[in-house]
Amino acid sequence: MKYIGAHVSAEGGVENAPIRAHEIGANAFAFFTKNQRRWVSPPLTKKSIELFKENCEKYGIKAEHILPHDSYLINLGHPEKEGLEKSRNAFLDEMQRCEQLGLQLLNFHPGSHLNQHSIDECLATIAESINIALDKTKGVSAIIENTAGQGTNLGHTFEQIAQIIDQVEDKTRVGVCIDSCHSYSAGYDLKTEAGYAETFRQFDEIIGANYLKAIHLNDTKKEFGSRVDRHDSIGKGFLGIDFFKRFMNDPRFNHIPIILETPDPTLWAEEIALLRSFVVE
Ligand SMILES: [Zn+2]
Ligand SMILES: [Zn+2]
Repeated sequence: MKYIGAHVSAEGGVENAPIRAHEIGANAFAFFTKNQRRWVSPPLTKKSIELFKENCEKYGIKAEHILPHDSYLINLGHPEKEGLEKSRNAFLDEMQRCEQLGLQLLNFHPGSHLNQHSIDECLATIAESINIALDKTKGVSAIIENTAGQGTNLGHTFEQIAQIIDQVEDKTRVGVCIDSCHSYSAGYDLKTEAGYAETFRQFDEIIGANYLKAIHLNDTKKEFGSRVDRHDSIGKGFLGIDFFKRFMNDPRFNHIPIILETPDPTLWAEEIALLRSFVVE
């Protein structure tokens, strides 16, 4: 069975996210636990936390299928002390929010070197940032998302992600989220049958299949290897519908959250139903 949802809005309070997920026929979802454009947000209220848990229970969505995303401001590989500290504090706050909500996963983009330190230094800084956050929290895993490699963003190769994981102390609390759009833009050819097989073979060899904890399922507006991050609706972009059919019939992605970050929220219910219709019993 596949657990599919979308990155839904938490406007009006995190307790609304599971309601919105249910409305589009999802049995998984992603959301922001705070305003993603601000460094500091007010703490979650007791009431909000209680209602969030109640609503997840009511709609039968389990913590293991909920994938909060951290703020885009955070750069855990920041080359400067001030920026790094700000990022680490904000990341810890996000981990603690997940803890409060009884969640198990926090998804984030690894970080950017900003042309101010080497790739190796940046990856080591990211790993150290993860170690600090894991040390101060319990029960929540840090889920590294592969990126398109836009600008100086790292995490666009499986080797870079493996290099981060190698330096994380508690390997039981680190995992990976593969974004299909980012993968294709970064040069992993998920479109063809052979490229698809080869991409996941490389993932298993370089990172390890046991680290795959989540999927972002998006089509892409940009061509293969463009290193540009522009999501498209399912089947409307360069990846095309055959990729999604293949994916939906691949049992390796059962049991983990599969999240749409496609650009048109009015299509989400339709997209989820379409994806489910691809499953050949
Ligand atoms: Zn993504
Ligand atoms: Zn993206």
